[in-house]
Amino acid sequence: MDLQTKVMAAVAEIAEQYCDSETVGRPWAVSWSGGKDSTTVLALVCRALQMLPASKRTREVIVIMSDTKIENPILEDYMRRQVRAVNRWARQNAMPLTAEIVSRPIKRSVWVGWLGWGWTLPTNGDDRYCTHALKIEPQNQRLTDVNPCLQLIGSRTEESTRRAATIETYREERGSRFTVSPYSDGRRIYMPIVEWTTDEVWQVLLNSLPWGSSDEIRRLYKDATGECALINPGGSVKATQACGARFGCWVCPPITKDRSTENMSSKYEWMKPLTEWRQLLKDAHNPKKHPDWRSGYRRNRTPLGPGKGCLAIHARKYLLTELLRAQEDVNKLRALDENPLHRAPIELISAEEIELIHAAWEEDAVKRPWLIDDREMEPGDWDRAVLRLAEKEVVRKQKRAEKKQKLADKAYPAVTI
Ligand code: SF4
Repeated sequence: MDLQTKVMAAVAEIAEQYCDSETVGRPWAVSWSGGKDSTTVLALVCRALQMLPASKRTREVIVIMSDTKIENPILEDYMRRQVRAVNRWARQNAMPLTAEIVSRPIKRSVWVGWLGWGWTLPTNGDDRYCTHALKIEPQNQRLTDVNPCLQLIGSRTEESTRRAATIETYREERGSRFTVSPYSDGRRIYMPIVEWTTDEVWQVLLNSLPWGSSDEIRRLYKDATGECALINPGGSVKATQACGARFGCWVCPPITKDRSTENMSSKYEWMKPLTEWRQLLKDAHNPKKHPDWRSGYRRNRTPLGPGKGCLAIHARKYLLTELLRAQEDVNKLRALDENPLHRAPIELISAEEIELIHAAWEEDAVKRPWLIDDREMEPGDWDRAVLRLAEKEVVRKQKRAEKKQKLADKAYPAVTI
């Protein structure tokens, strides 16, 4: 099937789903990250709405974008302008579509967590608390309010083998573009471009979007990853952020190297203080670089051993001072940027977050002396920590042996004669 036919088929299928009489009156939600895949899905939805006569455009479509509040500033600015452009297009064309931005409540701010309470950094495992707090929870909260009969997303099996496996797990049936929500809330998910290739997505984005030009999204990818329809038609560049987003939080701790921000900072001088501060944050948590910057405890006083617990208060204070310095440097350099869109000052951390951070230091200083500084662990705590680590190691070894055994059993199933 050539691309034009594929696009027409996708638009027709979306229009057919939109007119589904069984769910009449119930809204749709489109999850939009601003990346190429979800932008393509949104463009297809807009085209489907354009195709329908006004009398049939009765279903509300809510487009939801999450702002983590630690987004790459260039992307954040782009996202906000795109949301405005989509809403303008919907208004001018009398489309029942609204784009909105959701974000975490202040109590879920990672600044308050990292610099106030000294939380350990998220790792590159399956369960990153930042992805939940900053992206999933605000989206899910809004989805609960909207209660859509379908949530449209831009997932594609070609993105990664992991993504393909997740899609297979939740597909309603083999080959279906519908899945059930992994959050067991009964939501149905629709993936209009699930089988599309990266190349096809870029081909679509070579054309303008219903609400405006597509030049900027292509330029953003080119600046961040070198990936673009013309330079990298195969689209083989892998996702650079830990939670799979092509661009993500500028401070993202789980990734070893934030190529998108680093690539951009070679073009935009003012992004350099951001990459430098991100390294400071990572180093502060690295006991090899700063052996006395982490306490030996969790916040609840569970001993973990020297250099394994929460960040000591003096280290949190240092990081906040340096973050404010980085903010100042960023804004001084931004004022010199050639692009007038980049000259406005930005806020890396809000006054409200700083206030909560100060309150957290005071509370820890009074109630949790084991987190105050790098002082020696209390008598007996070190032995408890060593014992705990040894127990954990035994469990880990047991689990590994069980997994190995399971794999071996699968490869050579027992034969009964
Ligand atoms: S981009 Fe990084 S910091 Fe941001 S939510 Fe994803 S894993 Fe967390």
